[in-house]
Amino acid sequence: NVPIKINYQMKRLKQITIVLVLSGFIFTQNPYAQNNIVKTKSENSEIVLPPLPYAENELEPYISAQTVMLHYGKHLKGYIDNVNRLIKEISNLEGKDLETIVKQSEGSLYNNAAQAWNHIFYFDAFSPHAQHLPSGNLEKQINKQWGNFENFKTAFTNTANNLFGSGWVWLIKNKNGTLDIIGESNAGNVLKGNGKPLLGVDIWEHAYYLDYQNRRAEHIDGLWNIIDWSIVDRRYNE
Ligand code: MN
Repeated sequence: NVPIKINYQMKRLKQITIVLVLSGFIFTQNPYAQNNIVKTKSENSEIVLPPLPYAENELEPYISAQTVMLHYGKHLKGYIDNVNRLIKEISNLEGKDLETIVKQSEGSLYNNAAQAWNHIFYFDAFSPHAQHLPSGNLEKQINKQWGNFENFKTAFTNTANNLFGSGWVWLIKNKNGTLDIIGESNAGNVLKGNGKPLLGVDIWEHAYYLDYQNRRAEHIDGLWNIIDWSIVDRRYNE
Protein backbone atom coordinates (compact mmCIF):
# COMPACT_ATOMS: atom_id res chain seq x y z
CA ASN A 1 0.00 0.00 0.00
CA VAL A 2 2.84 2.34 0.78
CA PRO A 3 4.03 2.97 -2.80
CA ILE A 4 0.44 3.55 -3.87
CA LYS A 5 -0.01 6.09 -1.10
CA ILE A 6 3.19 7.91 -2.05
CA ASN A 7 2.14 7.83 -5.66
CA TYR A 8 -1.22 9.33 -4.68
CA GLN A 9 0.44 12.04 -2.62
CA MET A 10 2.75 12.91 -5.52
CA LYS A 11 -0.27 13.17 -7.76
CA ARG A 12 -2.01 15.49 -5.26
CA LEU A 13 1.14 17.56 -4.96
CA LYS A 14 1.27 17.93 -8.74
CA GLN A 15 -2.39 18.97 -8.84
CA ILE A 16 -1.87 21.52 -6.08
CA THR A 17 1.21 22.88 -7.87
CA ILE A 18 -0.75 23.30 -11.09
CA VAL A 19 -3.53 25.14 -9.23
CA LEU A 20 -1.01 27.42 -7.51
CA VAL A 21 0.80 28.18 -10.76
CA LEU A 22 -2.48 28.93 -12.54
CA SER A 23 -3.69 31.14 -9.66
CA GLY A 24 -0.42 33.01 -9.80
CA PHE A 25 -0.93 33.51 -13.51
CA ILE A 26 -4.48 34.76 -13.05
CA PHE A 27 -3.64 37.15 -10.21
CA THR A 28 -0.47 38.62 -11.63
CA GLN A 29 -1.50 38.99 -15.25
CA ASN A 30 -4.38 41.09 -16.35
CA PRO A 31 -4.89 39.84 -19.90
CA TYR A 32 -7.37 42.62 -20.54
CA ALA A 33 -5.29 45.50 -19.28
CA GLN A 34 -3.79 48.05 -21.64
CA ASN A 35 -6.39 47.29 -24.23
CA ASN A 36 -5.14 43.81 -25.04
CA ILE A 37 -8.73 43.16 -24.31
CA VAL A 38 -9.90 39.61 -24.83
CA LYS A 39 -6.94 38.73 -27.04
CA THR A 40 -5.26 36.66 -24.37
CA LYS A 41 -6.71 33.60 -22.75
CA SER A 42 -5.83 31.50 -19.74
CA GLU A 43 -3.65 28.44 -20.23
CA ASN A 44 -6.57 26.03 -20.27
CA SER A 45 -8.08 28.19 -23.07
CA GLU A 46 -11.15 29.19 -21.10
CA ILE A 47 -12.21 32.84 -20.99
CA VAL A 48 -11.18 34.21 -17.59
CA LEU A 49 -12.65 37.00 -15.49
CA PRO A 50 -9.92 39.65 -15.51
CA PRO A 51 -9.11 41.42 -12.24
CA LEU A 52 -10.87 44.75 -11.72
CA PRO A 53 -8.40 47.58 -12.45
CA TYR A 54 -9.41 49.30 -9.15
CA ALA A 55 -10.98 48.37 -5.81
CA GLU A 56 -14.75 47.74 -5.69
CA ASN A 57 -15.39 50.88 -3.62
CA GLU A 58 -13.19 53.24 -5.64
CA LEU A 59 -15.92 54.32 -8.06
CA GLU A 60 -18.02 55.68 -5.19
CA PRO A 61 -20.11 57.75 -4.91
CA TYR A 62 -20.94 57.38 -8.62
CA ILE A 63 -21.17 53.58 -8.58
CA SER A 64 -21.39 51.87 -5.19
CA ALA A 65 -19.15 49.01 -4.08
CA GLN A 66 -22.24 46.81 -3.86
CA THR A 67 -23.17 47.51 -7.48
CA VAL A 68 -19.61 46.83 -8.65
CA MET A 69 -19.51 43.63 -6.60
CA LEU A 70 -22.74 42.35 -8.14
CA HIS A 71 -22.25 43.74 -11.63
CA TYR A 72 -18.66 42.60 -12.01
CA GLY A 73 -18.54 39.62 -9.70
CA LYS A 74 -21.95 38.12 -10.53
CA HIS A 75 -23.32 39.46 -13.83
CA LEU A 76 -20.04 39.57 -15.76
CA LYS A 77 -18.81 36.35 -14.19
CA GLY A 78 -22.12 34.72 -15.14
CA TYR A 79 -21.73 35.74 -18.80
CA ILE A 80 -18.17 34.38 -18.86
CA ASP A 81 -19.26 31.09 -17.25
CA ASN A 82 -22.02 30.78 -19.84
CA VAL A 83 -19.56 31.35 -22.71
CA ASN A 84 -17.25 28.66 -21.34
CA ARG A 85 -20.18 26.25 -21.06
CA LEU A 86 -21.84 27.06 -24.41
CA ILE A 87 -18.59 27.12 -26.40
CA LYS A 88 -18.11 23.40 -25.81
CA GLU A 89 -21.14 22.77 -28.01
CA ILE A 90 -19.72 24.84 -30.88
CA SER A 91 -16.43 23.17 -31.63
CA ASN A 92 -15.17 25.53 -34.35
CA LEU A 93 -15.07 28.42 -31.83
CA GLU A 94 -13.64 26.56 -28.84
CA GLY A 95 -10.26 28.00 -27.87
CA LYS A 96 -10.82 31.26 -29.80
CA ASP A 97 -10.45 34.65 -28.11
CA LEU A 98 -13.57 36.46 -26.95
CA GLU A 99 -13.50 39.05 -29.75
CA THR A 100 -13.52 36.32 -32.40
CA ILE A 101 -16.31 34.49 -30.60
CA VAL A 102 -18.41 37.69 -30.54
CA LYS A 103 -17.84 38.30 -34.26
CA GLN A 104 -18.57 34.73 -35.33
CA SER A 105 -21.39 33.59 -33.04
CA GLU A 106 -25.16 33.90 -33.01
CA GLY A 107 -27.98 33.31 -30.52
CA SER A 108 -27.25 32.42 -26.95
CA LEU A 109 -23.49 32.18 -27.37
CA TYR A 110 -23.42 35.60 -29.05
CA ASN A 111 -25.57 37.14 -26.30
CA ASN A 112 -23.29 35.88 -23.55
CA ALA A 113 -20.00 36.49 -25.39
CA ALA A 114 -21.05 40.03 -26.38
CA GLN A 115 -22.17 40.78 -22.82
CA ALA A 116 -18.85 39.45 -21.48
CA TRP A 117 -16.85 41.57 -23.95
CA ASN A 118 -19.02 44.66 -23.38
CA HIS A 119 -18.66 44.48 -19.60
CA ILE A 120 -14.88 43.98 -19.63
CA PHE A 121 -14.59 46.95 -21.99
CA TYR A 122 -17.00 49.00 -19.83
CA PHE A 123 -15.24 48.40 -16.50
CA ASP A 124 -11.87 48.97 -18.14
CA ALA A 125 -12.82 52.56 -19.09
CA PHE A 126 -13.38 53.72 -15.50
CA SER A 127 -10.83 55.05 -13.09
CA PRO A 128 -11.04 56.69 -9.66
CA HIS A 129 -8.36 59.08 -10.99
CA ALA A 130 -10.00 59.66 -14.35
CA GLN A 131 -8.82 62.19 -16.89
CA HIS A 132 -12.13 64.03 -17.37
CA LEU A 133 -11.60 65.34 -20.88
CA PRO A 134 -10.40 63.88 -24.17
CA SER A 135 -7.18 65.24 -25.59
CA GLY A 136 -5.18 65.29 -28.82
CA ASN A 137 -6.74 63.76 -31.93
CA LEU A 138 -9.90 62.61 -30.18
CA GLU A 139 -10.53 66.03 -28.67
CA LYS A 140 -10.10 67.61 -32.12
CA GLN A 141 -12.50 65.14 -33.73
CA ILE A 142 -15.16 65.64 -31.02
CA ASN A 143 -14.90 69.41 -31.37
CA LYS A 144 -15.11 69.12 -35.14
CA GLN A 145 -18.31 67.05 -35.01
CA TRP A 146 -20.11 68.42 -31.94
CA GLY A 147 -18.53 71.86 -31.46
CA ASN A 148 -17.34 71.12 -27.92
CA PHE A 149 -17.18 68.38 -25.33
CA GLU A 150 -20.32 69.57 -23.49
CA ASN A 151 -22.39 69.18 -26.67
CA PHE A 152 -20.94 65.72 -27.20
CA LYS A 153 -21.85 64.75 -23.62
CA THR A 154 -25.41 65.99 -24.18
CA ALA A 155 -25.74 63.97 -27.39
CA PHE A 156 -24.34 60.82 -25.72
CA THR A 157 -26.57 61.29 -22.66
CA ASN A 158 -29.65 61.83 -24.83
CA THR A 159 -28.99 58.60 -26.70
CA ALA A 160 -28.63 56.79 -23.36
CA ASN A 161 -31.78 58.30 -21.90
CA ASN A 162 -33.84 57.62 -25.01
CA LEU A 163 -32.77 54.00 -25.42
CA PHE A 164 -35.84 51.87 -24.78
CA GLY A 165 -35.36 48.92 -22.44
CA SER A 166 -31.94 47.38 -21.88
CA GLY A 167 -28.89 47.97 -24.01
CA TRP A 168 -25.66 49.82 -24.59
CA VAL A 169 -24.58 53.21 -25.86
CA TRP A 170 -21.39 53.18 -27.87
CA LEU A 171 -18.96 55.77 -29.10
CA ILE A 172 -17.30 54.32 -32.17
CA LYS A 173 -14.57 55.37 -34.55
CA ASN A 174 -15.26 54.82 -38.23
CA LYS A 175 -12.57 53.80 -40.72
CA ASN A 176 -12.19 57.43 -41.86
CA GLY A 177 -11.60 58.60 -38.27
CA THR A 178 -15.06 60.14 -37.74
CA LEU A 179 -17.09 59.31 -34.65
CA ASP A 180 -20.62 58.03 -34.10
CA ILE A 181 -22.82 57.58 -31.06
CA ILE A 182 -24.85 54.40 -31.41
CA GLY A 183 -27.58 52.94 -29.20
CA GLU A 184 -27.88 49.13 -29.24
CA SER A 185 -30.49 46.90 -27.62
CA ASN A 186 -29.78 44.02 -25.26
CA ALA A 187 -26.26 42.61 -25.74
CA GLY A 188 -25.78 44.80 -28.83
CA ASN A 189 -22.08 44.87 -29.58
CA VAL A 190 -20.58 46.93 -32.38
CA LEU A 191 -17.74 44.55 -33.25
CA LYS A 192 -19.79 42.98 -36.05
CA GLY A 193 -20.04 46.38 -37.72
CA ASN A 194 -17.31 48.46 -39.32
CA GLY A 195 -16.65 50.84 -36.44
CA LYS A 196 -14.10 50.44 -33.68
CA PRO A 197 -15.60 50.72 -30.18
CA LEU A 198 -14.06 53.49 -28.04
CA LEU A 199 -16.51 53.65 -25.13
CA GLY A 200 -19.49 51.51 -24.13
CA VAL A 201 -22.00 52.47 -21.45
CA ASP A 202 -24.28 49.85 -19.94
CA ILE A 203 -27.92 50.93 -19.91
CA TRP A 204 -29.29 47.76 -18.30
CA GLU A 205 -31.05 48.55 -15.03
CA HIS A 206 -28.69 46.23 -13.13
CA ALA A 207 -25.95 48.82 -13.83
CA TYR A 208 -27.64 51.48 -11.71
CA TYR A 209 -30.86 50.37 -10.03
CA LEU A 210 -29.39 49.80 -6.54
CA ASP A 211 -27.79 53.25 -6.53
CA TYR A 212 -30.22 55.37 -8.54
CA GLN A 213 -33.39 53.24 -8.83
CA ASN A 214 -35.19 54.50 -11.96
CA ARG A 215 -33.08 57.67 -12.31
CA ARG A 216 -31.04 56.62 -15.33
CA ALA A 217 -30.18 60.20 -16.33
CA GLU A 218 -28.66 60.89 -12.91
CA HIS A 219 -26.57 57.73 -13.20
CA ILE A 220 -25.28 58.78 -16.64
CA ASP A 221 -24.41 62.23 -15.25
CA GLY A 222 -22.34 60.56 -12.53
CA LEU A 223 -20.40 58.45 -15.01
CA TRP A 224 -18.68 61.50 -16.51
CA ASN A 225 -16.70 61.70 -13.25
CA ILE A 226 -15.18 58.22 -13.62
CA ILE A 227 -14.86 57.67 -17.39
CA ASP A 228 -11.13 57.94 -17.99
CA TRP A 229 -10.58 59.78 -21.26
CA SER A 230 -6.90 58.83 -21.28
CA ILE A 231 -8.15 55.29 -21.97
CA VAL A 232 -10.63 56.43 -24.63
CA ASP A 233 -7.89 58.59 -26.21
CA ARG A 234 -5.62 55.55 -26.37
CA ARG A 235 -8.34 53.43 -27.98
CA TYR A 236 -8.92 56.17 -30.58
CA ASN A 237 -5.22 56.46 -31.45
CA GLU A 238 -4.49 52.73 -31.62
MN1 MN B 1 -24.36 45.05 -17.14
